[in-house]
Amino acid sequence: MSNAVNVEEIFAKNVFTIEKMKEYLPDDVFNEVMTIRSEGGELPLKTADIVANAMKDWAVSKGATHFTHWFQPLTGITAEKHDAFIKHPDEEGRCLLEFSGKELIKGESDASSFPSGGLRATFEARGYTAWDMSSPAFLKEDAIGIILCIPTAFCSYKGEALDMKTPLLRSMEAVNTQALRLLRLFGNNTSKKVIPSVGAEQEYFLVDRKNYLRREDLIFAGRTLFGSPAPKGQELDDHYYGTIQERIGAFMHDLNIELWKLGVTAKTQHNEVAPAQHELAPIYEIANIAMDHNQLIMEVMKKVAIRHDMACLLHEKPFAGVNGSGKHNNWSLTTDDGINLLDPGDSPNENLQFLLVLSCLIKAVDKHADLLRQSASCVGNDERLGGNEAPPCIISVFLGEQLEDIVNQIVEFGEASNLKGNTTFKTGVSALPDFEIDATDRNRTSPFAFTGNKFEFRSVGSSDSIGSPNIAINTIAAEAFCEACDVIENAADKKEAIHNVITENFTKHQRIIFSGDGYSEGWRKEAEKRGLKSINTMVDAIATLSDEKTVQLFEKFQIFTKAELESRAEILYETYAKTINIEARTMIDMASRQIVPAVATYSGRLANTVNEMIQAGVTPVVQMGLLNDVNKELTNLDTALAALKMAMDNVKDIKNEKELAEFFKDTIVPKMKRLRVPVDNLERIVDKRVWPLPTYADLMFEV
Ligand code: ADP
Ligand code: MG
Repeated sequence: MSNAVNVEEIFAKNVFTIEKMKEYLPDDVFNEVMTIRSEGGELPLKTADIVANAMKDWAVSKGATHFTHWFQPLTGITAEKHDAFIKHPDEEGRCLLEFSGKELIKGESDASSFPSGGLRATFEARGYTAWDMSSPAFLKEDAIGIILCIPTAFCSYKGEALDMKTPLLRSMEAVNTQALRLLRLFGNNTSKKVIPSVGAEQEYFLVDRKNYLRREDLIFAGRTLFGSPAPKGQELDDHYYGTIQERIGAFMHDLNIELWKLGVTAKTQHNEVAPAQHELAPIYEIANIAMDHNQLIMEVMKKVAIRHDMACLLHEKPFAGVNGSGKHNNWSLTTDDGINLLDPGDSPNENLQFLLVLSCLIKAVDKHADLLRQSASCVGNDERLGGNEAPPCIISVFLGEQLEDIVNQIVEFGEASNLKGNTTFKTGVSALPDFEIDATDRNRTSPFAFTGNKFEFRSVGSSDSIGSPNIAINTIAAEAFCEACDVIENAADKKEAIHNVITENFTKHQRIIFSGDGYSEGWRKEAEKRGLKSINTMVDAIATLSDEKTVQLFEKFQIFTKAELESRAEILYETYAKTINIEARTMIDMASRQIVPAVATYSGRLANTVNEMIQAGVTPVVQMGLLNDVNKELTNLDTALAALKMAMDNVKDIKNEKELAEFFKDTIVPKMKRLRVPVDNLERIVDKRVWPLPTYADLMFEV
């Protein structure tokens, strides 16, 4: 068949893998690189020169012309600036190619146009990018040519993090150190490293590009700002896991190939709940690479969609009335020798270790629920979280019936003596049970669910970087492990101390555990009784970053300084304000220049018909009724449009980032919603032939 693929042959074809490094580097240099890669430290310049040269030889042999430091500034997406390998021609006019060690390990760029939240004064506009050696270099093949990309971290002149990568790497280090301490308590002296692994499932929509290009809201905001529901939505559940259409299949086929070439383990593909919605899940991998790969997945999705004359929408809520998109962030901790800390295990010792880890994570999530909520917030996610299609804004942990029962018993009796279900009970150390995990109950409404041997954080938005959530999870886990180890390491009877810490963690933080229906009104009330907060918007969540306990957490593990946190908060307020500003302006533009004129033309035509009919001696009952309805809605539209415009005039007077974000949230967003109502009403009564925009039916069913 023509589209047969040899996956083994193409996989990681465009990646400078360890295997290729070995082939291109002298043995001693290769070994040196591998040591630094796993143990940390800086590559000496002499070694870097050799590595860079090898990388260049490999890249050039594949047809590459440029290299770039590929980084993830606080825009949520990636950035790159290409440099050709060519150097100054020699005396005979020959052009030679060059890539030095200095260029590989460190890049210096004028970074004044990236968000810094006031961290970097313009007179110190330089930013540095530094190679993240644990993430391999790769080649991007585009119309622009083939570019060698070096995954890098991005810092200010003084070393403050200006990106997602730097704090993520710091948080991985923190959780590694603390988790190793915890493992040592159980007599494990062999594991050298604990690695957070992440598998991020990516949801997305595909629409026809011609339709996409006819809607300013999709172009500028990535979502529809107007639109009446199509006659058919997702009510028949016929799209979820449905047969994949040819056109979508062709897209998925190409997408997989592109991703496999980049070493991304695209694994699962299926249709999602909403019409035109799909999902791709890669196999989990070390958190920083998972983050790089998730960025690549999003980028390649958009690119391949264009090739297929479609547009890929990554927004959390492209269409009102049907499900939006998220990014389930599956997280676990594994040692270099293959022990999963979230695996309950078989022996009493493993059980006990698992329960300690679990109790620490329960404590961590309860203590820092607001930080987790914040880490999964982005502008688009405000439209989705809490909307009975995604986890509620209240953070809670799902454990499943059996595990929850064990926790209850430990809390009540200080031990667990019997197990729910059919599994057998064996008494373990310190009267804690050996048990099998029940992974059958998969509650899709829970924000933070234990699913067998990992936690699944389901609140993350589809367009967002997975940096923030994983920085938060790694760091809060590190803190809870650290606090447990501080107590246990100093105790005379360690087993007893472990037992006590488990009991204390579960007892104090049991309130965060909830295995019921997270969408129900009952849970909202119950959560309130338990003192669990519901933080309903991104703007409300930002304040968490300056909370004393958040600052202490991040400073203790040297992830962020107070100044770095403040700068991040400022950037988030700014991002919110700018995004809503664009959305509001897009609405004003579409309403004023497309919808009002179309409706005016239509009502004019109706009025003419009415007059003509009266002249002809007929009573135009239907036409008059329609004309009145159209006119009424057009008047409502005009009033709502005027109100939005007037409110937008006040924006320029607000100088403080936080106040501005709040103004957009409290004043502009409600006015945008109000403007949408008459427009959507009009869409339902105005002649489709004069309606200026492709409808939901066109967008979701014409692919
Ligand atoms: P579902 O949609 O049923 O939750 P998927 O197969 O779509 O499951 O996605 C599950 C994701 O979780 C995949 O990316 C998978 O690689 C990842 N995953 C599986 N085991 C682990 C683990 N131990 N740690 C982290 N991620 C994991
Ligand atoms: Mg899935």
